[in-house]
Amino acid sequence: SAGAGGDAVPGRVRVAVRLRPRNAEESIADADFADCVELQPELKRLKLRKNNWESETYEFDEVLTEFASQKRVYEVVAKPVVESVLDGYNGTVMAYGQTGTGKTFTLGKLGEEDTSARGIMVRSMEEILANVSPEIDSVSVSYLQLYMETIQDLLDPANDNISIVEDPRTGDVSLPGATHVEIRDEQSFLEILKLGEAHRIAANTKLNTESSRSHAILMVHIKRSVLGEEVSIPSETDKSSHFVKPPKPLVRKSKLVLVDLAGSERVQKSGSEGHMLEEAKSINLSLSALGKCINALAENSAHVPIRDSKLTRLLRDSFGGTARTSLIVTIGPSPRHRGETASTILFGQRAM
Ligand code: ADP
Ligand code: MG
Repeated sequence: SAGAGGDAVPGRVRVAVRLRPRNAEESIADADFADCVELQPELKRLKLRKNNWESETYEFDEVLTEFASQKRVYEVVAKPVVESVLDGYNGTVMAYGQTGTGKTFTLGKLGEEDTSARGIMVRSMEEILANVSPEIDSVSVSYLQLYMETIQDLLDPANDNISIVEDPRTGDVSLPGATHVEIRDEQSFLEILKLGEAHRIAANTKLNTESSRSHAILMVHIKRSVLGEEVSIPSETDKSSHFVKPPKPLVRKSKLVLVDLAGSERVQKSGSEGHMLEEAKSINLSLSALGKCINALAENSAHVPIRDSKLTRLLRDSFGGTARTSLIVTIGPSPRHRGETASTILFGQRAM
């Protein structure tokens, strides 16, 4: 295990934990009880309470308290990944945690009325748009939902079974059927996020499921024109003179993948049947496949079991190798959810 500290380095997954504040209900109902965790952000440590006198201590790359601003969260979790994507590498930021702990708040919050509330998706796009040249570069997005091993296009609901194509030579992943929308300014991006969210709600109503039971995946594709080397070619007529061919513009492609994962809570398999059981199995399959791949990276293992789920196949070219990956695990303070909080913390720990 690589331990704490360091910037977004290729290969290794950077792991942050974020605690959300108590909500109104927890403040009242659990007023007499301490939070299930105690954070020591300067030490990058978190203590998980076992009982009144014992606790277990864990270290993370970053420990974000209930007072951490959205800006700070962006800066420590996503910014190094976005910068590396602007340099031409692929990158991924994923949010993992129990439903209600702040995954969507952290990633997807639009913050239209209060820009300080903007989440990682909007802040990343802002940074990207500020760094590309509109005349020569291109920024486009696709927005997908992965539900029960099926990929749906959140920008075109009719497109409800997108296949993954992997280039056997380069390992590059593409989704030939997915809608790509060119993004020119922040406003058009906000509109796309809202459209995707509306389609997500409609699709889930039709399927009679909760959005917390699927993964939402935003892909930002960047194509930048970079000038190649000048090429010096000996002249045909006069061998002593050289004809200098002007540099040819090259197109450098990279992508940023932002994943709002399905809720990590254990669905009681024993208590559910039929569709619910299939759904639970599918979520467990993709999250455990993701966990195994992240562990394999952390342990520098030669075998990363990427093929085990659609989620990991989709991320094949966006984590490991030269890609930068950040994982943010979100937890709630309630002592009632101590068990789920403990399992989220362990997922994060295994990634390091
Ligand atoms: P998830 O996507 O993990 O199910 P949400 O992002 O929907 O969770 O968050 C659940 C609720 O908690 C929402 O009302 C959200 O606004 C609130 N919330 C989450 N994280 C924070 C935070 N850091 N600060 C303030 N409110 C938060
Ligand atoms: Mg959510």
